[in-house]
Amino acid sequence: MSETLLEIHLPHLKHNYHFLKNRLTPTTKLLAVVKAFGYGSDAVAVAKCLAQEGVDYFGVAYVNEGIHLRKAGITKPILVLHPQRINLQKLIAHDLEPSIYSQRLFEAFLAELKQAGKKNYPIHLKFNTGLNRLGLNPDECLSILTQLENSKEHMRLQGVFSHLAASDDLTEDPFTTSQLNTFKRVVDLVKPKHPNAIVHTLNTSGVIHYPHAQYDMVRTGISLYGYGNAAEVDAQLKPVLRLTTIISQIHHLEAGDSLGYNRGFIAEKSTQTATLPLGHADGIGRIYGNGNGFVFIHGKKAPILGNVCMDMIMVDVTNIDCEEGDEVLVIGPNATAENLANSAGTISYELITGLSQRIQRRIITE
Ligand SMILES: *Cc1c(COP(=O)(O)O)cnc(C)c1O
Repeated sequence: MSETLLEIHLPHLKHNYHFLKNRLTPTTKLLAVVKAFGYGSDAVAVAKCLAQEGVDYFGVAYVNEGIHLRKAGITKPILVLHPQRINLQKLIAHDLEPSIYSQRLFEAFLAELKQAGKKNYPIHLKFNTGLNRLGLNPDECLSILTQLENSKEHMRLQGVFSHLAASDDLTEDPFTTSQLNTFKRVVDLVKPKHPNAIVHTLNTSGVIHYPHAQYDMVRTGISLYGYGNAAEVDAQLKPVLRLTTIISQIHHLEAGDSLGYNRGFIAEKSTQTATLPLGHADGIGRIYGNGNGFVFIHGKKAPILGNVCMDMIMVDVTNIDCEEGDEVLVIGPNATAENLANSAGTISYELITGLSQRIQRRIITE
């Protein structure tokens, strides 16, 4: 038991899933990205819920994340976005689909398939169209297709994809358009030979801003959890995560008194503070300290004072009528992860995926 509690609201997840589905062409498949513990929530609970709603695919970053889902009984296809060479055998053993992003990985994977005696194994080819992170060079497309042809006994092309660098930023529209054009050139080379390959490139912001490029499938993460990187979309999504805690103790400081490690806050006037059981080991980093971050108590904003400790923060409740034991809202419907993250110069993705495993999770089903 813990007074700091992260609720995972599955009805909100379902709402967000259907909201996204309704924006897509009915035949477009949806891959739910559940990497990083389902963006800090609970990957298994999220995957089970979405599988029941009819989601087509799951995406994870690493092989171990895929194995975790398989062990929990998830049978839908799972794409591993960043498989590592040392885990390919495990990937095959658990029926996970690799993103093949380099020649080196292609060859290593082919060798593993031969070793395992596997036939017709599904793979996705990942092309780099400008993010310059992972991906085959589009100029390599024909040669990799030839290699694939020569290896067709062992593998088949299940998907071809790319990833956008700035789909959330409309000032970068010309760049995104050039990425989409490069990807289309790749697709035009692949499709005649592999008409059934699933073509996919859009993430959440791609779905919002470039729906014409949805092809056969989209890969959405953050929007399923309730954040759309755009105010008008956020207004229609429901946050899946609700993080609350309880005031452990209240202190009265007089002018000149200090608070916390290294005396990070010195009271200029009489100040009332509340100590909360939530710290940087829970994912509220030190950057949220010294007046940047805040929580809500009885609907009022209470800024974090002084340095964030490992297990605690202290907040300013001078103007809030509250007592020890009262509830504190950290993230939730009227306290968005987006706003809290922005207070520390970061983004919702970092805040929610950083909520550590120490925080007790509770699945809310209705
Ligand atoms: C994480 C990730 C996504 C999901 O992006 P969102 O912005 O959360 O929708 C999609 N594709 C790839 C390759 C990713 O790494």
